[in-house]
Amino acid sequence: MSYVQRWYGLPSNYDDWKTKSPWDDEVIVSYCLHCGGEIYEGSEEYKVNGDWVHEDCFSDWAKEVLDARLKTAEQE
Ligand SMILES: [Zn+2]
Repeated sequence: MSYVQRWYGLPSNYDDWKTKSPWDDEVIVSYCLHCGGEIYEGSEEYKVNGDWVHEDCFSDWAKEVLDARLKTAEQE
């Protein structure tokens, strides 16, 4: 329903848009190990030993945890 319809139709919940954000329906299931941000139900993220890491955060998180650094290979 568009805002215009809400204004002119005036259903009983016509002012919901004033108090609700579009994110109110999102269910937070956990928090990201890397950034601490919310993990929402239904989103696709990495699950690591029972904890969650955002798909976007996973690469940085894994490098941190594994202490991996991108280096130029050379003979030792
Ligand atoms: Zn994250």
